[in-house]
Amino acid sequence: MNITRNITLDAALDDAKRDYTARNPASLALHEKAAGPLPGGNTRTVLYYDPFPLAFTRGQGARLWDVDGHEYRDFLGEYTAGLAGHSQPAIRRAIDKALDNGLNLGGHNTYEPDFAAAVTARFPSMDMVRFTNSGTEANLLAISTAIARTGRRKVMVFRSGYHGAVFTFSGGANINVPFDYVQATYNDTEATLATLEANAAELACVILEPMMGGGGCIPARPDFLRALREATARHGVVLIFDEVMTSRLSPGGLQAKLGILPDLTTLGKYIGGGMSFGAFGGKAELMGLFDPRRADALPHAGTFNNNVLTMAAGIAALTEVYTPAEADRLNGVGEALRARLNDMARKHGAPMQFTGIGSMLNLHVLDEEITGPEVAARGNMKARDLFFFDMLKAGFWLARRGMLALSLPLTPQDCDAFAEAAEEFVVSRKALLG
Ligand SMILES: *Cc1c(COP(=O)(O)O)cnc(C)c1O
Repeated sequence: MNITRNITLDAALDDAKRDYTARNPASLALHEKAAGPLPGGNTRTVLYYDPFPLAFTRGQGARLWDVDGHEYRDFLGEYTAGLAGHSQPAIRRAIDKALDNGLNLGGHNTYEPDFAAAVTARFPSMDMVRFTNSGTEANLLAISTAIARTGRRKVMVFRSGYHGAVFTFSGGANINVPFDYVQATYNDTEATLATLEANAAELACVILEPMMGGGGCIPARPDFLRALREATARHGVVLIFDEVMTSRLSPGGLQAKLGILPDLTTLGKYIGGGMSFGAFGGKAELMGLFDPRRADALPHAGTFNNNVLTMAAGIAALTEVYTPAEADRLNGVGEALRARLNDMARKHGAPMQFTGIGSMLNLHVLDEEITGPEVAARGNMKARDLFFFDMLKAGFWLARRGMLALSLPLTPQDCDAFAEAAEEFVVSRKALLG
Protein backbone atom coordinates (compact mmCIF):
# COMPACT_ATOMS: atom_id res chain seq x y z
CA MET A 1 0.00 0.00 0.00
CA ASN A 2 2.73 2.39 1.04
CA ILE A 3 4.83 1.40 -1.93
CA THR A 4 1.98 2.04 -4.37
CA ARG A 5 1.35 5.42 -2.81
CA ASN A 6 5.04 6.39 -2.94
CA ILE A 7 5.30 5.42 -6.58
CA THR A 8 2.26 7.55 -7.29
CA LEU A 9 3.71 10.55 -5.47
CA ASP A 10 7.06 10.02 -7.23
CA ALA A 11 5.27 9.88 -10.57
CA ALA A 12 3.31 13.05 -9.83
CA LEU A 13 6.50 14.85 -8.83
CA ASP A 14 8.32 13.65 -11.96
CA ASP A 15 5.43 14.92 -14.06
CA ALA A 16 5.47 18.27 -12.29
CA LYS A 17 9.23 18.64 -12.89
CA ARG A 18 8.89 17.71 -16.56
CA ASP A 19 6.14 20.27 -16.95
CA TYR A 20 8.26 22.85 -15.10
CA THR A 21 11.22 22.18 -17.41
CA ALA A 22 9.06 22.55 -20.51
CA ARG A 23 7.60 25.85 -19.29
CA ASN A 24 10.93 27.44 -18.32
CA PRO A 25 13.45 27.13 -21.18
CA ALA A 26 14.98 30.58 -20.60
CA SER A 27 15.63 29.84 -16.90
CA LEU A 28 17.23 26.55 -17.92
CA ALA A 29 19.44 28.27 -20.50
CA LEU A 30 20.51 30.86 -17.94
CA HIS A 31 21.29 28.12 -15.42
CA GLU A 32 23.46 26.33 -17.97
CA LYS A 33 25.28 29.55 -18.84
CA ALA A 34 25.87 30.32 -15.15
CA ALA A 35 27.14 26.78 -14.51
CA GLY A 36 30.35 27.66 -16.39
CA PRO A 37 31.90 30.30 -14.12
CA LEU A 38 29.78 29.54 -11.01
CA PRO A 39 29.81 26.09 -9.40
CA GLY A 40 26.47 24.59 -10.44
CA GLY A 41 25.46 28.06 -11.60
CA ASN A 42 25.17 29.04 -7.94
CA THR A 43 26.55 31.66 -5.58
CA ARG A 44 23.86 31.28 -2.87
CA THR A 45 23.13 27.70 -1.86
CA VAL A 46 19.52 28.19 -0.71
CA LEU A 47 18.45 29.22 -4.21
CA TYR A 48 19.30 25.91 -5.86
CA TYR A 49 16.68 23.25 -6.42
CA ASP A 50 16.38 20.52 -9.00
CA PRO A 51 15.88 20.32 -11.93
CA PHE A 52 17.13 23.97 -12.09
CA PRO A 53 16.07 27.18 -10.35
CA LEU A 54 14.03 30.02 -11.82
CA ALA A 55 15.69 33.31 -12.71
CA PHE A 56 13.86 36.62 -12.53
CA THR A 57 14.14 39.76 -14.60
CA ARG A 58 11.98 42.14 -12.61
CA GLY A 59 10.04 42.76 -9.43
CA GLN A 60 7.46 45.40 -8.58
CA GLY A 61 5.40 45.69 -5.42
CA ALA A 62 4.69 42.07 -4.47
CA ARG A 63 4.99 40.75 -8.04
CA LEU A 64 7.86 39.04 -9.86
CA TRP A 65 8.48 38.23 -13.52
CA ASP A 66 10.78 35.40 -14.57
CA VAL A 67 12.98 35.24 -17.66
CA ASP A 68 10.33 33.18 -19.48
CA GLY A 69 7.76 35.92 -18.93
CA HIS A 70 5.65 34.29 -16.18
CA GLU A 71 4.23 36.56 -13.52
CA TYR A 72 4.21 35.52 -9.85
CA ARG A 73 2.66 36.80 -6.67
CA ASP A 74 5.67 36.93 -4.35
CA PHE A 75 5.01 35.01 -1.11
CA LEU A 76 8.70 34.40 -0.41
CA GLY A 77 9.59 38.03 0.27
CA GLU A 78 13.29 37.25 -0.20
CA TYR A 79 13.33 34.92 2.84
CA THR A 80 12.13 37.87 5.01
CA ALA A 81 14.63 40.42 3.64
CA GLY A 82 12.11 41.69 1.06
CA LEU A 83 9.58 42.85 3.63
CA ALA A 84 9.06 46.20 1.90
CA GLY A 85 8.44 44.67 -1.54
CA HIS A 86 10.40 45.38 -4.72
CA SER A 87 9.73 49.07 -5.32
CA GLN A 88 8.86 50.82 -2.08
CA PRO A 89 8.83 54.57 -2.95
CA ALA A 90 10.21 55.93 0.36
CA ILE A 91 13.13 53.50 0.20
CA ARG A 92 13.72 54.39 -3.43
CA ARG A 93 13.78 58.12 -2.57
CA ALA A 94 16.27 57.52 0.25
CA ILE A 95 18.60 55.53 -2.01
CA ASP A 96 18.36 58.10 -4.83
CA LYS A 97 19.21 60.91 -2.43
CA ALA A 98 22.18 59.00 -1.04
CA LEU A 99 23.41 58.26 -4.58
CA ASP A 100 23.20 61.93 -5.48
CA ASN A 101 25.70 62.70 -2.73
CA GLY A 102 28.24 60.07 -3.67
CA LEU A 103 29.37 56.63 -2.56
CA ASN A 104 32.24 55.40 -0.43
CA LEU A 105 33.13 58.61 1.36
CA GLY A 106 35.84 57.00 3.47
CA GLY A 107 34.67 58.71 6.62
CA HIS A 108 31.64 59.00 8.83
CA ASN A 109 28.43 60.06 7.13
CA THR A 110 25.38 61.83 8.49
CA TYR A 111 23.19 58.72 8.39
CA GLU A 112 24.88 56.44 10.94
CA PRO A 113 23.69 58.04 14.17
CA ASP A 114 20.10 58.30 12.92
CA PHE A 115 20.01 54.69 11.76
CA ALA A 116 21.57 53.49 15.03
CA ALA A 117 19.00 55.52 16.99
CA ALA A 118 16.14 54.05 14.95
CA VAL A 119 17.38 50.49 15.55
CA THR A 120 18.04 50.86 19.28
CA ALA A 121 14.69 52.62 19.77
CA ARG A 122 12.89 49.59 18.36
CA PHE A 123 14.48 46.63 20.10
CA PRO A 124 14.31 46.75 23.89
CA SER A 125 17.50 44.77 24.63
CA MET A 126 19.68 46.93 22.37
CA ASP A 127 21.17 49.87 24.26
CA MET A 128 23.87 50.13 21.61
CA VAL A 129 24.44 48.65 18.16
CA ARG A 130 27.19 48.06 15.61
CA PHE A 131 26.55 47.47 11.92
CA THR A 132 27.89 44.68 9.72
CA ASN A 133 27.12 43.62 6.15
CA SER A 134 25.23 40.40 6.76
CA GLY A 135 23.48 38.39 9.41
CA THR A 136 26.26 35.80 9.28
CA GLU A 137 28.81 38.46 10.14
CA ALA A 138 26.59 39.83 12.91
CA ASN A 139 26.45 36.40 14.55
CA LEU A 140 30.21 35.94 14.14
CA LEU A 141 30.78 39.26 15.93
CA ALA A 142 28.21 38.58 18.66
CA ILE A 143 29.71 35.18 19.50
CA SER A 144 33.23 36.63 19.40
CA THR A 145 32.14 39.43 21.72
CA ALA A 146 30.82 36.86 24.22
CA ILE A 147 34.09 34.91 24.06
CA ALA A 148 36.14 38.08 24.56
CA ARG A 149 33.97 39.24 27.46
CA THR A 150 33.80 35.94 29.37
CA GLY A 151 37.22 34.50 28.56
CA ARG A 152 35.42 31.20 27.92
CA ARG A 153 35.52 29.19 24.68
CA LYS A 154 32.35 27.12 24.33
CA VAL A 155 29.30 28.13 22.28
CA MET A 156 25.91 26.46 22.78
CA VAL A 157 23.84 26.05 19.62
CA PHE A 158 20.74 24.00 18.79
CA ARG A 159 20.46 21.08 16.38
CA SER A 160 18.95 22.20 13.05
CA GLY A 161 19.68 25.82 13.98
CA TYR A 162 20.78 28.24 11.27
CA HIS A 163 22.75 31.40 11.95
CA GLY A 164 24.34 31.99 8.54
CA ALA A 165 26.67 30.46 5.97
CA VAL A 166 29.27 29.35 8.51
CA PHE A 167 26.79 28.54 11.31
CA THR A 168 24.70 25.72 9.87
CA PHE A 169 23.77 22.98 12.34
CA SER A 170 21.43 20.81 10.30
CA GLY A 171 23.81 17.84 9.99
CA GLY A 172 25.60 16.94 6.77
CA ALA A 173 28.55 18.77 5.26
CA ASN A 174 29.34 22.23 6.57
CA ILE A 175 32.08 24.84 6.63
CA ASN A 176 31.23 26.19 10.07
CA VAL A 177 33.54 28.53 11.97
CA PRO A 178 35.50 26.15 14.20
CA PHE A 179 34.24 27.38 17.56
CA ASP A 180 33.96 24.80 20.34
CA TYR A 181 30.24 24.01 19.96
CA VAL A 182 27.96 22.31 22.45
CA GLN A 183 24.75 21.15 20.73
CA ALA A 184 21.39 20.99 22.46
CA THR A 185 17.81 20.14 21.49
CA TYR A 186 15.45 23.04 20.76
CA ASN A 187 12.45 23.27 23.10
CA ASP A 188 13.78 20.47 25.34
CA THR A 189 14.15 22.47 28.55
CA GLU A 190 15.30 19.71 30.85
CA ALA A 191 18.04 18.30 28.61
CA THR A 192 19.20 21.79 27.57
CA LEU A 193 19.54 22.95 31.17
CA ALA A 194 21.44 19.78 32.08
CA THR A 195 23.88 20.39 29.18
CA LEU A 196 24.19 24.04 30.14
CA GLU A 197 24.92 23.24 33.81
CA ALA A 198 27.49 20.61 32.83
CA ASN A 199 29.36 23.10 30.62
CA ALA A 200 28.63 26.34 32.48
CA ALA A 201 32.19 27.14 33.59
CA GLU A 202 33.45 26.99 30.00
CA LEU A 203 30.41 28.38 28.22
CA ALA A 204 30.73 31.85 26.66
CA CYS A 205 27.28 32.07 25.12
CA VAL A 206 24.07 30.42 24.03
CA ILE A 207 22.78 31.47 20.61
CA LEU A 208 19.33 30.69 19.25
CA GLU A 209 16.41 32.11 17.31
CA PRO A 210 13.32 32.72 19.47
CA MET A 211 11.48 31.03 16.59
CA MET A 212 13.46 28.75 14.27
CA GLY A 213 13.02 30.46 10.90
CA GLY A 214 14.95 28.55 8.24
CA GLY A 215 14.51 25.47 10.44
CA GLY A 216 10.77 25.47 9.58
CA CYS A 217 9.10 28.39 11.42
CA ILE A 218 9.00 26.50 14.73
CA PRO A 219 8.36 28.81 17.69
CA ALA A 220 10.34 28.34 20.89
CA ARG A 221 8.16 27.60 23.88
CA PRO A 222 8.17 30.71 26.11
CA ASP A 223 8.94 28.63 29.21
CA PHE A 224 11.96 27.15 27.37
CA LEU A 225 13.29 30.64 26.59
CA ARG A 226 12.58 31.85 30.12
CA ALA A 227 14.47 28.90 31.60
CA LEU A 228 17.42 29.68 29.30
CA ARG A 229 17.30 33.35 30.28
CA GLU A 230 17.39 32.45 33.97
CA ALA A 231 20.14 29.81 33.72
CA THR A 232 22.44 31.89 31.49
CA ALA A 233 22.09 34.89 33.83
CA ARG A 234 22.89 32.71 36.85
CA HIS A 235 26.07 31.34 35.22
CA GLY A 236 27.31 34.53 33.58
CA VAL A 237 26.73 33.07 30.10
CA VAL A 238 25.86 35.59 27.36
CA LEU A 239 22.42 34.88 25.87
CA ILE A 240 22.24 35.81 22.18
CA PHE A 241 18.94 36.00 20.31
CA ASP A 242 19.40 35.73 16.56
CA GLU A 243 16.52 37.95 15.44
CA VAL A 244 17.75 38.27 11.85
CA MET A 245 14.34 36.98 10.73
CA THR A 246 12.15 37.17 13.84
CA SER A 247 12.69 40.87 14.56
CA ARG A 248 9.82 41.53 12.11
CA LEU A 249 7.31 39.64 14.28
CA SER A 250 6.35 42.64 16.44
CA PRO A 251 7.34 46.31 16.53
CA GLY A 252 10.10 45.40 19.02
CA GLY A 253 10.97 41.97 17.67
CA LEU A 254 9.97 38.60 19.03
CA GLN A 255 11.83 39.51 22.26
CA ALA A 256 9.37 42.33 22.93
CA LYS A 257 6.36 40.18 22.06
CA LEU A 258 7.56 37.50 24.51
CA GLY A 259 8.90 39.91 27.13
CA ILE A 260 12.20 37.98 27.29
CA LEU A 261 15.34 40.04 26.74
CA PRO A 262 18.70 38.59 25.68
CA ASP A 263 22.12 40.12 26.43
CA LEU A 264 22.93 40.47 22.72
CA THR A 265 20.65 40.56 19.69
CA THR A 266 21.61 40.08 16.07
CA LEU A 267 19.69 41.58 13.17
CA GLY A 268 19.79 41.34 9.39
CA LYS A 269 17.64 40.96 6.31
CA TYR A 270 14.77 43.53 5.95
CA ILE A 271 16.14 46.18 8.34
CA GLY A 272 18.51 47.56 5.69
CA GLY A 273 15.50 48.29 3.48
CA GLY A 274 16.66 45.60 1.05
CA MET A 275 20.35 46.60 0.99
CA SER A 276 23.07 44.33 2.45
CA PHE A 277 22.69 44.53 6.20
CA GLY A 278 23.56 43.04 9.56
CA ALA A 279 23.87 44.35 13.10
CA PHE A 280 24.63 43.18 16.60
CA GLY A 281 23.82 45.02 19.76
CA GLY A 282 22.84 44.85 23.38
CA LYS A 283 23.81 46.04 26.79
CA ALA A 284 26.18 48.98 27.03
CA GLU A 285 28.38 46.88 29.30
CA LEU A 286 29.04 44.49 26.37
CA MET A 287 28.87 46.84 23.39
CA GLY A 288 30.97 49.47 25.17
CA LEU A 289 33.94 47.10 24.80
CA PHE A 290 34.16 48.37 21.20
CA ASP A 291 34.40 52.06 22.17
CA PRO A 292 37.59 53.12 20.36
CA ARG A 293 38.23 55.82 22.96
CA ARG A 294 39.19 53.02 25.38
CA ALA A 295 42.83 51.97 25.49
CA ASP A 296 41.75 48.29 25.53
CA ALA A 297 39.00 48.63 22.92
CA LEU A 298 38.03 45.55 20.95
CA PRO A 299 38.49 46.12 17.21
CA HIS A 300 35.65 45.65 14.74
CA ALA A 301 36.57 46.64 11.20
CA GLY A 302 34.43 46.46 8.06
CA THR A 303 34.83 48.64 4.97
CA PHE A 304 31.10 48.69 4.25
CA ASN A 305 29.78 48.77 7.86
CA ASN A 306 28.52 52.34 7.42
CA ASN A 307 27.87 52.33 3.67
CA VAL A 308 25.53 55.14 2.74
CA LEU A 309 23.04 53.05 0.74
CA THR A 310 22.28 50.70 3.64
CA MET A 311 22.23 53.49 6.21
CA ALA A 312 19.88 55.66 4.13
CA ALA A 313 17.56 52.81 3.07
CA GLY A 314 17.51 51.45 6.62
CA ILE A 315 16.39 54.74 8.13
CA ALA A 316 13.50 54.89 5.65
CA ALA A 317 12.63 51.22 6.23
CA LEU A 318 12.37 51.55 10.00
CA THR A 319 10.94 55.04 10.39
CA GLU A 320 8.73 55.47 7.31
CA VAL A 321 7.88 52.01 6.02
CA TYR A 322 7.89 49.29 8.71
CA THR A 323 6.41 51.48 11.39
CA PRO A 324 5.08 49.81 14.56
CA ALA A 325 1.55 50.09 13.12
CA GLU A 326 2.59 48.39 9.88
CA ALA A 327 4.38 45.65 11.86
CA ASP A 328 1.16 44.93 13.73
CA ARG A 329 -0.87 45.03 10.51
CA LEU A 330 1.38 42.66 8.54
CA ASN A 331 1.61 40.17 11.40
CA GLY A 332 -2.17 40.24 11.67
CA VAL A 333 -2.42 39.42 7.95
CA GLY A 334 -0.09 36.47 8.55
CA GLU A 335 -2.06 35.16 11.53
CA ALA A 336 -5.29 35.31 9.51
CA LEU A 337 -3.75 33.57 6.49
CA ARG A 338 -2.24 30.80 8.64
CA ALA A 339 -5.56 30.20 10.43
CA ARG A 340 -7.40 30.09 7.09
CA LEU A 341 -4.92 27.63 5.54
CA ASN A 342 -4.97 25.37 8.60
CA ASP A 343 -8.77 25.42 8.76
CA MET A 344 -8.88 24.50 5.09
CA ALA A 345 -6.48 21.56 5.58
CA ARG A 346 -8.50 20.33 8.57
CA LYS A 347 -11.77 20.63 6.64
CA HIS A 348 -10.41 18.33 3.93
CA GLY A 349 -8.73 15.98 6.42
CA ALA A 350 -5.38 16.67 4.73
CA PRO A 351 -2.30 15.85 6.85
CA MET A 352 -0.68 19.25 6.45
CA GLN A 353 -0.25 22.41 8.49
CA PHE A 354 1.33 25.84 8.36
CA THR A 355 3.45 26.68 11.42
CA GLY A 356 4.93 30.05 12.34
CA ILE A 357 4.15 33.35 13.99
CA GLY A 358 2.71 36.45 12.33
CA SER A 359 4.05 37.11 8.84
CA MET A 360 6.31 34.02 8.69
CA LEU A 361 4.74 30.68 7.74
CA ASN A 362 6.06 27.24 6.85
CA LEU A 363 4.23 24.28 5.34
CA HIS A 364 4.73 20.86 6.91
CA VAL A 365 3.01 17.84 5.39
CA LEU A 366 2.61 16.11 8.73
CA ASP A 367 -0.25 15.36 11.05
CA GLU A 368 1.28 15.85 14.50
CA GLU A 369 2.10 18.86 16.63
CA ILE A 370 5.47 20.27 15.52
CA THR A 371 7.35 20.95 18.74
CA GLY A 372 10.85 20.87 17.25
CA PRO A 373 12.91 20.23 14.13
CA GLU A 374 13.16 16.48 14.86
CA VAL A 375 9.39 16.24 14.58
CA ALA A 376 9.30 18.41 11.44
CA ALA A 377 11.86 16.07 9.84
CA ARG A 378 9.19 13.34 9.80
CA GLY A 379 7.13 15.39 7.33
CA ASN A 380 6.48 14.24 3.77
CA MET A 381 9.15 16.19 1.86
CA LYS A 382 8.12 14.93 -1.58
CA ALA A 383 4.54 16.07 -1.00
CA ARG A 384 5.94 19.46 0.02
CA ASP A 385 7.97 19.56 -3.21
CA LEU A 386 4.80 18.86 -5.15
CA PHE A 387 3.09 21.78 -3.40
CA PHE A 388 5.99 24.00 -4.48
CA PHE A 389 5.75 23.02 -8.15
CA ASP A 390 1.93 23.19 -8.19
CA MET A 391 1.97 26.65 -6.60
CA LEU A 392 4.62 27.89 -9.07
CA LYS A 393 2.42 26.75 -11.92
CA ALA A 394 -0.49 28.60 -10.32
CA GLY A 395 1.65 31.78 -10.19
CA PHE A 396 2.95 31.89 -6.59
CA TRP A 397 6.60 32.20 -5.63
CA LEU A 398 7.64 30.59 -2.33
CA ALA A 399 10.59 28.64 -0.95
CA ARG A 400 10.99 25.02 -2.03
CA ARG A 401 11.13 24.09 1.64
CA GLY A 402 7.62 25.53 2.13
CA MET A 403 8.53 28.85 3.69
CA LEU A 404 6.44 32.00 3.18
CA ALA A 405 7.40 35.49 4.34
CA LEU A 406 4.71 38.07 3.70
CA SER A 407 5.65 41.49 2.40
CA LEU A 408 3.88 44.81 2.88
CA PRO A 409 2.50 45.28 -0.67
CA LEU A 410 0.62 41.93 -0.69
CA THR A 411 -3.10 42.63 -0.94
CA PRO A 412 -6.10 40.79 0.53
CA GLN A 413 -6.75 39.56 -3.04
CA ASP A 414 -3.24 38.07 -3.15
CA CYS A 415 -3.90 36.20 0.11
CA ASP A 416 -7.31 35.00 -1.15
CA ALA A 417 -5.72 33.75 -4.35
CA PHE A 418 -3.01 31.93 -2.38
CA ALA A 419 -5.54 30.26 -0.10
CA GLU A 420 -7.65 29.19 -3.09
CA ALA A 421 -4.65 27.74 -4.91
CA ALA A 422 -3.59 25.88 -1.75
CA GLU A 423 -7.10 24.42 -1.48
CA GLU A 424 -6.98 23.38 -5.13
CA PHE A 425 -3.70 21.55 -4.32
CA VAL A 426 -5.33 19.77 -1.38
CA VAL A 427 -8.39 18.76 -3.38
CA SER A 428 -6.45 17.52 -6.41
CA ARG A 429 -3.51 15.91 -4.55
CA LYS A 430 -5.03 14.67 -1.31
CA ALA A 431 -4.60 11.00 -2.19
CA LEU A 432 -0.81 11.57 -2.46
CA LEU A 433 -0.29 13.37 0.85
CA GLY A 434 -0.42 10.42 3.28
C1 LIG B 1 19.46 34.77 6.99
C2 LIG B 1 19.88 34.44 8.38
C3 LIG B 1 21.18 34.65 8.84
C4 LIG B 1 22.28 35.07 7.93
O1 LIG B 1 22.10 36.32 7.37
P1 LIG B 1 22.87 36.68 6.00
O2 LIG B 1 22.65 38.13 5.83
O3 LIG B 1 22.23 35.83 4.95
O4 LIG B 1 24.30 36.32 6.22
C5 LIG B 1 21.45 34.43 10.16
N1 LIG B 1 20.51 34.01 11.00
C6 LIG B 1 19.26 33.78 10.60
C7 LIG B 1 18.25 33.32 11.59
C8 LIG B 1 18.90 33.97 9.29
O5 LIG B 1 17.65 33.71 8.89
